Amino acid sequence: MPSTLQPSEKADLISAAVTLRGLDVMGPGGTKEMRSNGDDDMGMEVSQPSGKMALQELMAGNKRYAKGHAKHPGQTKGHRIKVAKDQRPTVVVVGCSDSRVPPTMIFDQGLGVIFEVRTAGHVVDEVAMGSIEYAVTHLGTQLILVLGHTGCGAVTLALTGQKPKGNMASIAEALMDLADEVQGVTDDPVGAAVEMNIRNVMEQLTLEGPITSDLVRKNRVLVAGAVYDMVTGRVRVLR
Ligand SMILES: [Zn+2]
Repeated sequence: MPSTLQPSEKADLISAAVTLRGLDVMGPGGTKEMRSNGDDDMGMEVSQPSGKMALQELMAGNKRYAKGHAKHPGQTKGHRIKVAKDQRPTVVVVGCSDSRVPPTMIFDQGLGVIFEVRTAGHVVDEVAMGSIEYAVTHLGTQLILVLGHTGCGAVTLALTGQKPKGNMASIAEALMDLADEVQGVTDDPVGAAVEMNIRNVMEQLTLEGPITSDLVRKNRVLVAGAVYDMVTGRVRVLR
């Protein structure tokens, strides 16, 4: 995607947006109870946790998952029937389609928590942006988490400059700037490009998406970015 900002400027911009909201996922917390989504809730915003709290819940779940202590919440028959009536997801995860990075599993969450928008290389086109807009306007979701992962095939392909066949070319095209953006990085260029791709999509959401950028400006939606390590199972939030 076109951008006139330098990578360091992008990072500053994003971290400023996150810092403004006092995000501190490394702090003690992380286990706060979410307010219940009872049937009598009339206002969506009242019934859902803030973006910051939602992120803390995800990180607590990821810690359980990575340690092999997943609780697999929200997967009973009773819960399934309960959430069939309505959905109030606490987060939109904009992630890669990779079969090894399923958000609900790696964050140890249940049905109805994560609204997933997944494409190869988490490319956000108009349809993906529309899906995100739906969640933040109709479902009251206050957190958008852009989730990249180690060893991303789409990002790796983009760095080769090859143009794949068919509609796959549109993925490579969307990611083609990454090669320039990590030029000169000799130590783990794929890792650097994965982070850059996350920051690019965060910038797209915070500055370019007409609805998401407006909600971010009004402090009604938090945009965060994170990298999932496929070996350790840990998610690291970008600063
Ligand atoms: Zn990937």
